[in-house]
Amino acid sequence: MPFELPALPYDKTALQPYISANTLDFHHGKHHNTYVTTLNSLVKDTPLADKSLEDIIKDSFGDAGRAAIFNNSAQVWNHTFFWNGMKGGGGGAPSGEVAAAIEGAFGSYEKFKDEFKSACVTQFGSGWGWLVVDNGKVAVMKTPNAENPMAHGKTALLTCDVWEHAYYLDYQNRRPDFVQAFLDQLVNWDFVASNLATAKR
Ligand code: MN
Repeated sequence: MPFELPALPYDKTALQPYISANTLDFHHGKHHNTYVTTLNSLVKDTPLADKSLEDIIKDSFGDAGRAAIFNNSAQVWNHTFFWNGMKGGGGGAPSGEVAAAIEGAFGSYEKFKDEFKSACVTQFGSGWGWLVVDNGKVAVMKTPNAENPMAHGKTALLTCDVWEHAYYLDYQNRRPDFVQAFLDQLVNWDFVASNLATAKR
């Protein structure tokens, strides 16, 4: 069965003014959708057509002959994960288990924010900033292009898309302002908590 573009988990206006409906129209409706349709055309009538997205990502990573399959499958997964990691009225400091894990790993929420923001801002060109579980501990990482923590054997908890298409309509070249708004206004910590609970099992 072909892969499908999942609906956004909120209304297109839900993230305004930090991410506009116009950006979501292009980013979800055009960019994310194109990764889905390209992946479907790449795996059609091949043994990969019946595999899960996760299996395709892990199986094709590092295989130069299947770079397009890796790039498109990972971008489908990364975007769905990105949408779910945000909500209107989100952001700010987490509580509970997530707060404890962040304080344990970084010392404080402020230090985590600095590290996450730095990863997002210093990713040269296109890519992603991540909060992950790596060997049982939460950590920040950045990846280029379509790469994601799964490809590196780590578990993603949260991501920020730092491709220019993610922020250019609303912030032009001001990637740091976009990342700041993501952290302060948009992060869905309930999504992070649910990923952390699953990662611990
Ligand atoms: Mn994107």
